[in-house]
Amino acid sequence: MTIKTFTFNPFQENTYIVHDETNEAVIIDAGCLNKDEKSAIINYLEEKKLTLKRVINTHLHLDHQFGNKFLFDTFGIKPEANIEDEFLVESFVTQARSFGLPVSEEAQAIGNYIAEYQEIKFGNSIFTTLLVPGHSPGSVAFYSEKEGIVFVGDVLFRGSIGRTDLPKGDFATLILSITKKLFLLPDSTVVYSGHGPTTTIGYEKKNNPYL
Ligand SMILES: [Zn+2]
Repeated sequence: MTIKTFTFNPFQENTYIVHDETNEAVIIDAGCLNKDEKSAIINYLEEKKLTLKRVINTHLHLDHQFGNKFLFDTFGIKPEANIEDEFLVESFVTQARSFGLPVSEEAQAIGNYIAEYQEIKFGNSIFTTLLVPGHSPGSVAFYSEKEGIVFVGDVLFRGSIGRTDLPKGDFATLILSITKKLFLLPDSTVVYSGHGPTTTIGYEKKNNPYL
């Protein structure tokens, strides 16, 4: 599995393009906002000769879904996310304006809902989904046991945890998601977060000051 990380938009959000030996790819949290960021996605897919199969979201805070409309318009692929975060699609334009961002179009509607323990398949690869609410009510993580990796969105960061002061955030729920779900994964699992560098489950168990 090959993972490409882009850091996009004024929130410095990590957008991931993941592909395997079949050259089928998924995009996790398409945060591309401006023209250069959108071009970077297209150029990478073309350069690596990838076929985009799915657009999946760990959650739907605006910085993680800026690019969903562009990807639907370009590839006809609708984003997939948990139903509990759908209210964030509806409030997208209001939120963006509150940050003074140049967004005029409505967000792209969700195509498929992601449930817990669902298999997200592309090429020869599979992610299993874990529901990890708290930062947002519909936060999900994408885990590959075979690769020893997990994409966690804004639930867990290197040395930090997600904020819980946004609509429908909940601190106690977040802590449970981390300690009862993510921390059950092997210590060697590499954690890809929605912002900042990668970490591992083992490192956060030992060193995270919030846990
Ligand atoms: Zn977020």
